[in-house]
Formats: sequence, structure tokens, C-alpha cells
Amino acid sequence: MVRLESEILFTPIPQRIARLRELAYNLWWAWHPEAQDLYRELDPDLWELDYHNPVDVLRDVRQTKLEEAALNPAYLKKFDAVLRDFDAYMGTQQTWFNQHFPQATQAQIAYFSAEFGIHESLPIYSGGLGILSGDHVKEASDMGLPFVAVGFIYPQGYFRQRLDHSGWQFAEYNKLNFADVPAIPALDPDGREVVIEVELPGRTIYAKVYKFQVGRVSLLLMDTDIHPNSPQDRELSARLYGGDQEMRVSQELVLGIGGVRALRRLGYKPNVWHMNEGHSAFLVLELCRELVVEGKSFADAMAQVKKHCVFTTHTPVPAGNDAFPLSLIEKFFWNYWPQLNLTRDEFMAIALQDQSWGPTFAMTALALRLSDYHNGVSQLHGHVARGMWQWLYPGKSQDEVPIVGITNGVHSASWLAPSIRQLFNSYLGKNWEDNLDDAEMWKKVYQIPDEVLWNTRQALKKDLIEFSRSRLIQYYRRLGQPATVWPVLEEGILTIGFARRFATYKRATLIFKDLERLKAILNNPSRPVQIIFAGKAHPKDDPGKHFIQHVYQLAMQPGLAGRIIFLEEYDMAVGRALTQGVDVWLNNPRRPHEASGTSGMKASLNGAPNCSILDGWWPEAFNGKNGWAIGDEREYSNQDQQDWDDAQSLYHILEHEIAPRFYENRNEAGVPVAWVQTCKEAMATCAPQFSFRRMLAEYVQRLYMPAAQS
Ligand SMILES: *Cc1c(COP(=O)(O)O)cnc(C)c1O
Repeated sequence: MVRLESEILFTPIPQRIARLRELAYNLWWAWHPEAQDLYRELDPDLWELDYHNPVDVLRDVRQTKLEEAALNPAYLKKFDAVLRDFDAYMGTQQTWFNQHFPQATQAQIAYFSAEFGIHESLPIYSGGLGILSGDHVKEASDMGLPFVAVGFIYPQGYFRQRLDHSGWQFAEYNKLNFADVPAIPALDPDGREVVIEVELPGRTIYAKVYKFQVGRVSLLLMDTDIHPNSPQDRELSARLYGGDQEMRVSQELVLGIGGVRALRRLGYKPNVWHMNEGHSAFLVLELCRELVVEGKSFADAMAQVKKHCVFTTHTPVPAGNDAFPLSLIEKFFWNYWPQLNLTRDEFMAIALQDQSWGPTFAMTALALRLSDYHNGVSQLHGHVARGMWQWLYPGKSQDEVPIVGITNGVHSASWLAPSIRQLFNSYLGKNWEDNLDDAEMWKKVYQIPDEVLWNTRQALKKDLIEFSRSRLIQYYRRLGQPATVWPVLEEGILTIGFARRFATYKRATLIFKDLERLKAILNNPSRPVQIIFAGKAHPKDDPGKHFIQHVYQLAMQPGLAGRIIFLEEYDMAVGRALTQGVDVWLNNPRRPHEASGTSGMKASLNGAPNCSILDGWWPEAFNGKNGWAIGDEREYSNQDQQDWDDAQSLYHILEHEIAPRFYENRNEAGVPVAWVQTCKEAMATCAPQFSFRRMLAEYVQRLYMPAAQS
């Protein structure tokens, strides 16, 4: 049973610092490390034990610790400063949005996504899509957009990745206790809790709506684990991407149709509806239904709905686009199409896609047909998506297909190491966070003294190595065996990071193509190299799990042991540690399968240059000086050839460009000056262009405001 905040058992808190509780219930802390420090400092061990979760810490902390803090002048000084910043942030009218669109008082953007990566303590994301949605919500808050987000709470989260003694991935699901996260039941204008209803075959399913406050933005998450749903329906939103196709249609129905109903019940009047990926596309049907009920024809309803809908497609991999057999759609919608005044065939035609296994109802087709504003997530992906969906636009050439490219970005404050942030505070000028997308301002990065940047980066690497070792010790402890390979990793040597979902197109094992050559590179006595891997395979993706096992087992082989490790449980905390702490970020997908990729943007922002295939965002970013390009911009028909050529190119770059630059040309203070120049170039060029600020400003100007004003 979920309890109201006021009913949750907290440790009694002294009046002087009572607002710690209020602050814990606004995920603003998720991108303000100084706010997190207030909870960490109460009890550093508890902070780790509770996985960086302020609500949990306030429940578990001993009262004496709170009383000590309330009497500690140094603590109180920090406390007051954080609350001053928080109040200023929440209270200001001087936002980016108000300055750019002072007239747009009616605009209201509703953003739907199946996953949100806000913080590691809220495990409702699986990978890049969720991280992007989380960053979207945070940046919408920072820019002051009239914005509300909708998704699912998934009480069992995604999964925790565990490896057995052979490196085989298995999943561990932990029940999320609502009292442990900053959830409060969403209330309608009359102050009542909101439970929405959606028809499923032969029954009604109920979902309760929770509100998470993310700065100025509300994130509404639905939960079906409530009475009077059947046990099976209570499981429906238990896990992200769990279950079979029937479960998936049910989830998407609740997300799209239920999400619209939740917003209505809460009194929202959106005039922009953004479907982030096709999972939520059923929402367009519900918007049409509302108008048909008012007496409009379906054609008129559709024409009106389209004008206010925005759709972002995220994957050029066909299997990544949901498409359901018509029989399944029939089972779920036979009762719904009459409400749209449509026949079965008219209804199916809205999203019909012919595929090798027969006709399907395709969520991407549905979303494209019922929205006027569409985009892919990089320039290259925009082009690929225009080709992929050209069949929906008969008579149009690929270039005329109305899917624009708006390249992804990262929410700077969420991914920046505190020590690098200190450097920016010192060298970029006082208001640098107001100008995140200003390329001129970022040139000030060149003024950071080489030695200062180098030392800061090497200290971050030391932190990463300590973090990695402690994670590895935890792993062996759980297995109940001594560390097989120890010590691992070495301070001071060139460190490469590779972390992402282990989808096979990302080719995690590419660097192992020629083992002898790799061993020679890693063990070169004057220029040694080490690699840290992390990443999850989808629970049903056995080929992906084999890749993980392969990396894990190679990491024990003589010649590789100690120089290569695999870290369990890639999540936002591991992602931060890696992108902040490595020297080089490696990315080698099979071109052109990576729609954008964002982890490399996080690395660049922190001064770790990319070594990447020219796929996703990298062709736009790479300028010959801010990192390295593996292979060239060509298309292959033979995958084995492509893999071989790319591996050769990667070895060559490592041996002849990256390692020499890192180890040679050191000045009297031991600083590799040419290397540091590459780091600065990566920061100065990538930070503004691939900031979420630049990205969201483009969404507002090119998609949201035209949709709001039509
Ligand atoms: C940034 C991030 C991703 C996305 O990385 P890609 O480069 O798109 O693969 C996935 N998972 C986590 C935990 C991240 O931090």
C-alpha cells in the first residue's frame, strides 16, 4: 500500500533543517550534487547503502545524526546556500521560455515516454531512450517550459544485472517500495487521488497516478499494481519491457490512452502532444475519440489532432519499431473502432504495414500518420528515417519525406563531474550555465591551464579505478570466491571506456577481432592501455548475453587479465563514473545502426575525447582535432568485411595516434600537452553543440511552438 508523504515514517527532524524533507521530494537534487551532499554528509555509509536516495536516507538516518547536523555551522551554511538556490530556481520568472516566448501563455506540452532516466535510485529506464527522456524533463524544467511528462512507475524497475561465475547475465528484480522514492499520489482539482480506467479485452484495468516533482516539471507515472485489478493486470506495469506481445499492447494502451485520461483528470489542457518513440502512439486515437464523441467525423478529428502532435523516432533497426499482428489489435480494439466511427478495415488502415511475416499494425506508422511534426535524432538518422518511412509518403522523394533531424544532446548538469564543474565555474564566467549552447563562451575552455585540466582528469580516473575495484570486490564477495584476477587496472595508464547496451549492432567485441594484436597494444611496455567495459543485454537477447560472457572470459586470459574488466550493472551511476573518469570513449557500432548515441557526448563534456565510428552524432561532431574517427563514411554490403576493416582501423588509431599522443610530448611537469589540447577541443566543440539546451531549443522552435500555435 502506498502512503502519503505525511504518513511515511521519517526520523524526526529538527526544525532548523526540516526543509530537507521538502527538498528530498523534488528531484531537483538529482542534478545538483551540492544538494545531494546535504544527505550524504548526514551519514556517508548510509548514503551508499540507500543508493544515493535522499528520501530513503531521511527514513533510515539515526536521529542523533540529524541533531548533530542541525548544530553544525559548516553544515548549516551549505544547507542555507542550497535552499537559497532551490528557492531562486523554483521562484524565478526569468526563464529561457519566458524570455523567448513571452506571449505563449497558453502553450502546454505533454511529453510521453515509456521510460525515464532521472536518477539511479529510480530504476525506470533501460538505456539511451530513457536517459534522453530524463534529460528532456530536467532541461524542460531548467528552461521553464510549460511541460508535463507521462509514463509508468514499474514497481520492479528494469532489472539489476548480475553475472554468474561464468559471466552469464541473469536478471534480479527488486520490488520498489513507494515510500522510498519521492512519489506522491497525484490529486485532481478537487483534491482527490486519481485512478484512471482503460478497457482491455473482457475487463477494465485501473491505474493509479503518482506525481514526481522534477524541478518545475511534474512527471506523472502510472501504476497498475492496485486493487481491484486481477493479479495478472497488477503485473502489467511491474517491469519495463517485460512479458509477451499481448502484455506489450496492454502496456502501450495504458500508456497512450490512459495517459491522456490521466492528464484530463488532473486538469491539464495540452496543445502539444509529444510521443517520444512509438510506444505511446495510441494516444492519438484517444485524442481523436474525444473529438468524435463531440460529434466530429473521424477525418475532421484526425486533421485537428495531427496539428498538435509531435513524434520522435529513435531507431533505424526495424525490430526496434513495435508492430503488432492484426489479430492481436483486433482483440484489443474491436470495441474501440466503433467509438471512432470506423470499420475494422478503416481502423487497421491507419497503421498498416506490410512486413515479411504479414501485415501488421505499426506504432511508428500510426505516430507518423497522426502527427504533423516528426524528427529523427541526428542528421544521419533523419536521412535514414526518411528512407525507411518513405513508403508512407507516396510520390515523395526520400529528401522530401517530412522527418527532420534534430540531433540529441545531454543535460550538462547531470553528467558533469563536480571537479570539472569547478573548473567551468572558474574559467567560463559566472553565468555559464545560462549559456550552455553558446559556442563562443565554450572557447574559454582553452584558457584552463594544461596542468590544471590534466591533474583534474587524472584524479577523476583515480576515482574511477577505485570505484571499479570496489564494484569488483562486491561481485566476488557475492559469488563467495576470492578475486580471480587481482590487482586489476593501473593508475596513470591510458584508459578506454566502453559502456552501452549490449545490442549486437553495437559490436562490443569488435576490439577482440585480432587478439594477439590487442594484447600487444595493451601490454606495450612504454605505452600500456587498459579498457573498462560495462553494459546490459536485454533479458531476452541471448546473443547480447554471449557478448558479455565473451568479454568477461577474455578478461581472465593471460595477456588481457588486469588490463580489461567488465563492470556489472551499467546504470546512471556507472555511466557517470565511466564517462567522467576514462581518457577515451570508444564507440564502434555497425554503421548506420546507431541513431544518435549520447554516452560519447557525456565523455566529451568532461574532457574525454571520442574514438568512434562515423555513425549517429559523431559525423556532425568530428572535426579532425576533437577525437578520432574509426573507418570512413561508407556503406558495406558485407558485414564480416565491415567488421574486419573497422577493427583494423581501430587498432591503427590506437597504436599510431591515441597512445603516442597520450604518452609522448610531455612537458617538464609531466603533462602531455598535445593530449590535453585534444581534450579541450572535445569540450569546447561538443559541449555547446550537443547540450540538451541546444537540442530542446530546437524542439521548441521547430516542433513545439508551431504545434502549439496551429
Ligand atoms: C548515456 C547512457 C546511455 C546511452 O548511451 P549510448 O551512447 O546511447 O549507448 C545508456 N545507458 C546509460 C546508463 C547511460 O548513462
